[in-house]
Amino acid sequence: MKYGRMFNFSAGPAMMPESVLEEIASEVMNYRGSGMSVMEMSHRSKVFESIRDQAEADLRTLMGIPDNYKVLFVQGGGTLQFAMVPMNLMKGGTACYVETGSWSKKAINEAKKFGKVEVAASSADRNFCYIPDCSDLSLPEDTDYIYICENETINGTTWPTLPNTKGHILAADQSSMFLSRPCRVEDYGLIWGGVQKNVGPAGMSIVIVREDLLRDDLPQYVPTYMNYKIHADNDSMYNTPNCWAIYCCGKVFRYLLDQGGLTAMEQRNQEKAKILYDFLDQSKMFHGTVDPAFRSVMNVPFSTGDKELDAQVVAATKAAGYDNLKGHRTVGGLRASIYNAMPREGVEALVQFLEKFEAEHR
Ligand SMILES: *Cc1c(COP(=O)(O)O)cnc(C)c1O
Repeated sequence: MKYGRMFNFSAGPAMMPESVLEEIASEVMNYRGSGMSVMEMSHRSKVFESIRDQAEADLRTLMGIPDNYKVLFVQGGGTLQFAMVPMNLMKGGTACYVETGSWSKKAINEAKKFGKVEVAASSADRNFCYIPDCSDLSLPEDTDYIYICENETINGTTWPTLPNTKGHILAADQSSMFLSRPCRVEDYGLIWGGVQKNVGPAGMSIVIVREDLLRDDLPQYVPTYMNYKIHADNDSMYNTPNCWAIYCCGKVFRYLLDQGGLTAMEQRNQEKAKILYDFLDQSKMFHGTVDPAFRSVMNVPFSTGDKELDAQVVAATKAAGYDNLKGHRTVGGLRASIYNAMPREGVEALVQFLEKFEAEHR
């Protein structure tokens, strides 16, 4: 790693590709002869408009987003989407949520403020270490939409196949897996992701929503900013957007295209995760905490089974240059987040370090 940078295993904000950071640094004083930084630029300027347009075009290419879907850049981070989704998709019926961990629980609690919510399936019985079978859910007739968190960042689970929605609208929080692998956008009514996990700087979410779900008849109380249609009708420029985040995300989209797109990323991410899971599966000290069929490729929670030893590992890894391996405060243990920007060498080096730690502490 250059510049004294660490292998940063944070769940988010997380690592960005080094070449992207270098490019941003080279443009920070004077963006391509405009005489100013993107941070200082009017969002209504031609220069910024072209940054925004290019970012959207590149994202559309990367994900193969069909023309009847809108791409929105919305401020407020992931948590705002927990409210925006029900505000925009509830139509007086039932919103069905699948409870798979910390982030879906938060989404459920928020949605309850706006209407009727049913938990259609849950993996709470085993501490969220798996994804429940959703091939034949019993869904009420008045189901407005089905909501999933497709990769639970804290619990480290991911959906191997999408739920059978029986024709209802699927809404998915993809925050911690956004752009980690190819995605069939047509299978969803709405996809959203907070960008600070796998893409760029915090404080923005990208929402991909099917056009026919945009509405003029939202309840009167819905704030203007929280109506997806307002963002769609104004190319995400109804008000001043998070220009800096859009610019940085655009750089990452371009980088991913240059790397071979999402198929190439999936291949690399699978390889990286395998290195870590293979180690955990043979270790006598460490073990993964998720049922193998549902293991996330992005967030790998693990533990020694001993709180004090876990804390020792966190301290030792940090001292050795591997940062942010402490598990989330709500679940404890350890967690390595290995998003797109984590190089394979980072995972290999971490595994070598853990092997050495295990040998020395047996
Ligand atoms: C981080 C995260 C969120 C919340 O994002 P904020 O920007 O912190 O509000 C929501 N869902 C998932 C899956 C996340 O990983």
